[in-house]
Amino acid sequence: MISRAEVDKLLEVRAPGPSLLSLYLWVPLDPAELRGLPAHVGELFALAARNGPGAPAAVRVGAAETEAVRGLLASHARDWLGHTVAIFACAELGLAEAIPLPCPLQERAVLAARPHVRPLLLAIQRCPAYRVAVVDRRHAWLFSIADGQISAAALPPAEGMRSRGFSGWYGLESHRVNERIIQLARHHYRDTAALLEQTSRATGAEPLVIGGHQDTIPQLLAVLPPGLRDQFAGSFVADPHTLTPAKVRDLASHVIQDWRTGQDQHVVAEFLQEPPGGRTVTGLSACLAAANRHAIQLLLVPAGGLVPGYACHRCGALSGTGDGCLHGATESLAVPDLIEEVVVATLGDGGQVETLPDPPGDIAARLRYPLPDRVR
Ligand SMILES: [Zn+2]
Repeated sequence: MISRAEVDKLLEVRAPGPSLLSLYLWVPLDPAELRGLPAHVGELFALAARNGPGAPAAVRVGAAETEAVRGLLASHARDWLGHTVAIFACAELGLAEAIPLPCPLQERAVLAARPHVRPLLLAIQRCPAYRVAVVDRRHAWLFSIADGQISAAALPPAEGMRSRGFSGWYGLESHRVNERIIQLARHHYRDTAALLEQTSRATGAEPLVIGGHQDTIPQLLAVLPPGLRDQFAGSFVADPHTLTPAKVRDLASHVIQDWRTGQDQHVVAEFLQEPPGGRTVTGLSACLAAANRHAIQLLLVPAGGLVPGYACHRCGALSGTGDGCLHGATESLAVPDLIEEVVVATLGDGGQVETLPDPPGDIAARLRYPLPDRVR
């Protein structure tokens, strides 16, 4: 499962020139279609090629990187059927790394001096790892879902907790999760909440989905401590006796999708509530100016689109024209995507980045402090 820590690690990788290939590729579900993959990769590579001022020479995917991608696909494509995979390759750095992603993403190939990470951040945001608690009046089943795979949550040993199987049951118990059943009838909901809190402390905050009967969901919800209540993403009603882990995953994934949509709407609504002309800016040039001043607290970006531009190799100033700072155009290097540059600058300054289907003004930022008019 891709994590922010992995993204941060990738962001430390830097090539001397625009020779590092980032490829986001959809691997078809049908193994018979794998034969067409190398040709398709070639098409994506052609789109990554570019010429232009600021680029030291024509930028093309190198033979060694092409070979590295072919090698990774030849040995692993069958493990990635039906997934988007991110591949980072740079022969100069000895880099050839593939990361299968939890959700389908737009395909792209990008050549730059460092890995192109916008789609990774989107995957983390869209398809987070999460927890599911299914509760009936006497039992609870806890699951972890990551990369579309469901597993019984690893439970810390708890004082007074009795775990046992129940013969004659069907549904969840018959799916090898019976050892995880928690039977604590007396303080059942409180104990379940306590276990959830312990798992949350062990693995960090994750969205929480609750499934069960119409009357058992609110009972668990009522005893969740505030920290867990904040992680609650939504619920689904189902009779636990009829559930299988696969059904739990499907029902919970719809809850998570709706929760994500709600989060996106909330972020936009909150942004639009800010008085205009204060701490919010919209549009690329205003966001570039804000990034150059390390002023972005929250950045809202679209999922798609690559906007070529320039970055000063002395001060890092970003611009659409190569004259974004006192060092002038001669010190500017072409970059394939200014949105990526603003994203990385914002993260580097400790800001937050949200990818939205339709951000205000195509790209927008809330600032730590208002900028003087002349730089907006
Ligand atoms: Zn500069």
